[in-house]
Amino acid sequence: MRLHIDRTACDGRGLCAELLPELLESDEWGFPMARGSSGVPEELTRAARRAVDRCPKLAFHLAPGS
Ligand code: SF4
Repeated sequence: MRLHIDRTACDGRGLCAELLPELLESDEWGFPMARGSSGVPEELTRAARRAVDRCPKLAFHLAPGS
């Protein structure tokens, strides 16, 4: 799975980066950026799904791919 963030929908408050610090960090405006590749290791899939479920703007998704 890969992380996908819809930047037109995201409000940049950084909740996903707080919930998934292993894979995301916030840029200087608070918008999330992938740390390295946007691939999700198997062991972080569950945490990534939890972060997706809590995105208040439905802007954060997991997409197929590695
Ligand atoms: S949780 Fe959603 S709205 Fe908030 S920063 Fe992440 S992608 Fe954007």
